[in-house]
Amino acid sequence: MQNIYGITLSELEDYFINRNEKKFKASQVFDWVYKKRVTDFDIMMNVSKKTIETLKKDFYFSKLELVKKLEDKDVAKYLFKLSDSSLVEAVLMFHDYGKSICISTQVGCNMGCKFCESGRLKKVRNLEVFEMVLQILMVEEDLKDRISHVVLMGIGEPFDNYINVIKFIDIINSNKGIDIGSRHITVSTCGIVPKIKEFTNYDKQVNLAISLHAPNNKIRDSIMNINHAYKIEDIISSIKEYIAKTNRRVTFEYIMLKGVNDSITCAKELSSLLKGINCYVNLIPYNETSHIEYKKSSKEDIKAFYDVLKKNGICVTIRREFGSSLNAACGQLRSNYKEG
Ligand code: SAH
Repeated sequence: MQNIYGITLSELEDYFINRNEKKFKASQVFDWVYKKRVTDFDIMMNVSKKTIETLKKDFYFSKLELVKKLEDKDVAKYLFKLSDSSLVEAVLMFHDYGKSICISTQVGCNMGCKFCESGRLKKVRNLEVFEMVLQILMVEEDLKDRISHVVLMGIGEPFDNYINVIKFIDIINSNKGIDIGSRHITVSTCGIVPKIKEFTNYDKQVNLAISLHAPNNKIRDSIMNINHAYKIEDIISSIKEYIAKTNRRVTFEYIMLKGVNDSITCAKELSSLLKGINCYVNLIPYNETSHIEYKKSSKEDIKAFYDVLKKNGICVTIRREFGSSLNAACGQLRSNYKEG
């Protein structure tokens, strides 16, 4: 038995073809599942009784259990329990350009970024495709509205769950599926270079964001374990290849950590590192958590850092803070729920 939310349209077409049935049935089923949002094969009126019986033998519907929801004016955080009792978070953000959801890709995370709450729980397992798709469906059901943008920036490292993430993107991007435009989907990675290379050959125009957080290896080594495996220069050269091949602009995320990576020297170093690369830098005010010692940079230091990048011709924005008011950013909801 397979979860119906875990199969891509082309896989479902193959399923029908292998049974000597017409492949358009896959589109009919997708229509019921993703456009009409039914959760019962028996309601699929234009599908024959015989096909419905076969589908019922091979596929099942499920939901995620919502165990906690926190809301503020421009953000809502959802904590879901999976069938093995693992907990994952999804965060809904209200922007002027639409509604975006930040989804989790793994239970826990092995990347070991020292500032990150999610990584305090080591990876338990990858999320299945259907568990990622259901985060969107559940939040849309609760919202009674459509989500316009998806970012893979919740708990987990998307490129450490590559195959499932690619299938997930296929389903949500399909115009027969959830139909979220590829330019409205962003995958964020801490910098797993072989996967960045693989992603370079991916044929969808999905956005790529790199969690850089440091202008040199010395600082990056001290805050991100992944940097012991893949150095900054490896990331930068794989990004240059990515841009040359895809012609797409890359985002570099840079968390502002007080006294760690927020000096003017760092800003200058970052400017030279990124000079000439088709990118933009997103400066992220660090979300402090009770379990980790890092502090957020002051507003003045963030502004001064921003000014140096600007002066050097780097496109840069300071990320608006979501969710810190709920004390539930980046893995804190799960973490606090477990301990609270
Ligand atoms: N593993 C992926 C995606 C998940 S993390 C990655 O590393 O990109 C998503 C983003 O949130 C990353 O840029 C991460 O560094 C950042 N982040 C983690 N903890 C944070 C915190 N406490 N405050 C602000 N951003 C944080």
